[in-house]
Order: sequence, then structure tokens, then C-alpha cells
Amino acid sequence: MSLVAVLAGMPDLLERTLIEHAPDSRGQCRECRDSSGISAAWPCMMREMADEASDIRNGGLPGTYGGRHRTLRAVRG
Ligand SMILES: [Zn+2]
Repeated sequence: MSLVAVLAGMPDLLERTLIEHAPDSRGQCRECRDSSGISAAWPCMMREMADEASDIRNGGLPGTYGGRHRTLRAVRG
């Protein structure tokens, strides 16, 4: 089961993820930091997965949601 499917089945966690992974004033994710403390560009991968999980909950088919990280996720499976 993909992480997106797991998120789709956990509405509380999904909602929290959508709230936490929001853009700051510079358009970067408030929640995601790399090891040097630099923010990830938003939407970050986590946010895109949460958006896809929301899409599934709203009747979308798994794997049909687009997004900036779509190709990368497909490569990783
Ligand atoms: Zn994030």
C-alpha cells in the first residue's frame, strides 16, 4: 500500500498534514527543512501526497493525481 493510500485512510493525519505543510511568506514549506535548515519549495512532496490522498477521498482514482513530484514518485514506486 502506498503512503498516499495510507494517508487517504487516516483523515486526522491527512488533515494535519495539509495544515502543517503550508507555504510560508516566501512560498516555501513551513514544515519541511533539509539538514541545513533550508525550506523545501512548496508544494513539497509531502503536501502533494496529502493532496493526492484528499483527491482519493473525494472520489479520485489512485495514481491519477498530477503534480510537481509526479514523475519522481512514479520512479520510486
Ligand atoms: Zn512540507
